[in-house]
Amino acid sequence: MKAGIHTFFALFFILIGYIPSPGYCSPTDTVKPRNIILFIGDGMGVAHIYAAYTKNKGFLHMMKCPYTGFIKTHSASHYITDSGAGSTAFSCGKKANNYTLGIDKDSITCKTILEYAEENGLSTGLISTSAITHATPAAFIAHHESRLQYESIAADFLNTDVDVLIGGGGQHFANRADGADLIAQLQNKGYEVILYPSSYDIDSSEKVVVFTAPLHNPRFSDGRGNMLPEATEKAISILNRNETGFFLMIEGSQIDWGGHNNDIEYVVEELIDMDNAVGKALDFAEKEGNTLVIITADHETGGLVVKDGNMTTGTIDIEFTSVNHTGVMVPVFAFGPGAAEFSGVYENTAVFDKMMNLLNLTNSCVSLTQSE
Ligand code: MG
Ligand code: ZN
Repeated sequence: MKAGIHTFFALFFILIGYIPSPGYCSPTDTVKPRNIILFIGDGMGVAHIYAAYTKNKGFLHMMKCPYTGFIKTHSASHYITDSGAGSTAFSCGKKANNYTLGIDKDSITCKTILEYAEENGLSTGLISTSAITHATPAAFIAHHESRLQYESIAADFLNTDVDVLIGGGGQHFANRADGADLIAQLQNKGYEVILYPSSYDIDSSEKVVVFTAPLHNPRFSDGRGNMLPEATEKAISILNRNETGFFLMIEGSQIDWGGHNNDIEYVVEELIDMDNAVGKALDFAEKEGNTLVIITADHETGGLVVKDGNMTTGTIDIEFTSVNHTGVMVPVFAFGPGAAEFSGVYENTAVFDKMMNLLNLTNSCVSLTQSE
């Protein structure tokens, strides 16, 4: 009789094509993406998104995403995270101490998803509207106790065979206090290095570094223009040459700075700019069908409240309640194969776990040689 029941269930599972999942992190029934594009809107809370949506008269590309969730953003050391710990949660899957990059709370170096991806034959890229050495992009490639050691952080960019880097921060490579010429070192490693181009219509051999400014790029309305959407489109076309797949992180860095300044125009123009880059990524993902696009934030900045608005005229009445980061959950939007995994409420570190699993990368924190 018992054998009969087992046979029945075995036949039942075979017939419906279902194998019971051994655990939460093994979605055996999920179609996995070849590529992942992760957008981080620094400081982008729900109110920022809705303010931009209203100012834009009821349209944002990111709202096309069929799956949404919320992440809890506290760091290992603080209820309110900074961008170093916030980005390390995404890059390493570890709750880290504020102001650190790519190390866990015990100062153990964590291998980042970008490093795992490179080791497994995927192409990788980082794009930001800040210096590329600033906390959010740097946490994907550097391992440091302090996010402020910019020249030391820049040297870490030589340790990983990242394929595409586009952002500010050229002075941390070219005009360093220690006199080292990291531009020459990048070129010796086979990179094409482009300094301060007037257009982002780049096409390159496989590995390319584009420094868009000596330090940070200007804000969108102060001369940066469409750098982010154009760089996004170009990076995708370069990285997509690798049939194994790619991992690309794109940061809307200055949404946070608008929040700190309590400047709603700054917040909105930076958010719409990042959303235009999201539009480029979603167009690609829709066309190719093998790319997961995730849009999230490391924390909220400014305690923004939308008190009133008009979707027809695009006017809003807002109030900032803080000049710092706040502790509220921030949203996650997802589109493409594996997007359903991002529904629900979870820790920011789970974004790493889900991405690693979906890219079939080994998910473990391995001790590396500690950086100086
Ligand atoms: Mg940032
Ligand atoms: Zn900030």
